[in-house]
Order: sequence, then C-alpha cells, then structure tokens
Amino acid sequence: MAIREILTVPNPVLKQVSQAVEVVDDELRALMDDMLETMYAAPGIGLAAIQIGVPKRVIVMDLAREGEEKQPRQFVNPEIIWASEETQGYEEGCLSVPEYFDEVQRPSRVKLRYLNYQGEQIEEDAEGLFAVCIQHELDHLNGVLFIDHLSRLKREQAVKKVRKLRAA
Ligand code: ZN
Repeated sequence: MAIREILTVPNPVLKQVSQAVEVVDDELRALMDDMLETMYAAPGIGLAAIQIGVPKRVIVMDLAREGEEKQPRQFVNPEIIWASEETQGYEEGCLSVPEYFDEVQRPSRVKLRYLNYQGEQIEEDAEGLFAVCIQHELDHLNGVLFIDHLSRLKREQAVKKVRKLRAA
C-alpha cells in the first residue's frame, strides 16, 4: 500500500467526470487499499479516486468514531437510486478543500446501489452522516465539490484560503 498525494482546489483534475469501472480486480483493489491508507493518513472519513488523480468511479469511507475499531468501506460505481424529499444540513469539509467548512443541504436519506470490494452488487439505505458522506463523495465522481453548492462568494473565499495555505 502507498500514500498518494491528495489534489486540492483549484486543480482542474477535480472537475473531471470519472469513468465507470469495468471489473473489480486485484489492480482495482490495490487502488482502493491505497485510497484508504491515504484517507487514514490525512486524516479523513471519505475519499474519491479523483482526489488522488484517478478518474474512476471509486469511493472509500470509514465512519468509525475515534477510539472505535476501523470500519473501512469501498464503493465501486455507486449510484443513488432514491433520495428523500426531506433534506438535512451538515457542516461539511473536504480533503481537497483543507481547513474550510460550511453547511450544505442534501437529502437526508438515500438508497444506494454499488459494487463492493469483492465486486458483489449491493443495495443499501443510508441516513445521517453516511448519507451526507456518500452524496459528498458521489459528487466528486461527477466533478462537483461541496463548495460548488455554496454561493460564488463563499466558493471564492474557500479557494483563496486553500491557495494561501499551500503558499505558506
Ligand atoms: Zn470531498
């Protein structure tokens, strides 16, 4: 396993739409292992492949709380097949927009379909932080960042802050 570099705004690669995965094989599993290691090292709770510059529809996540045992999860070609009309606001952050946090409104419950680490098709309901995180990560696969859900002014402030951070 290896820790990869996480791309940050305004890197144009983050705007790319990722491509569907054709087979879940050892090469893809190695990518998912690297993604998890990179996410844990950051540290973060979710990471999309495009954030390390790989335009594939792959997400990793671990929502275990501090002190709890690790719960690594992998999602290949994830799709939202149902979303609630009810929404919830959550203060989001992103490893590609370090040290910037703001509230985003999203459907509070969704139903997902994806392939797991073994390549099996799974359907699963998500709510709470899981629903927030999977929608945030799925946006990445479509070239959308959480700051794209904010006003233009806030988005520009976020990018400026990250540029400054990088220059420091
Ligand atoms: Zn993110």
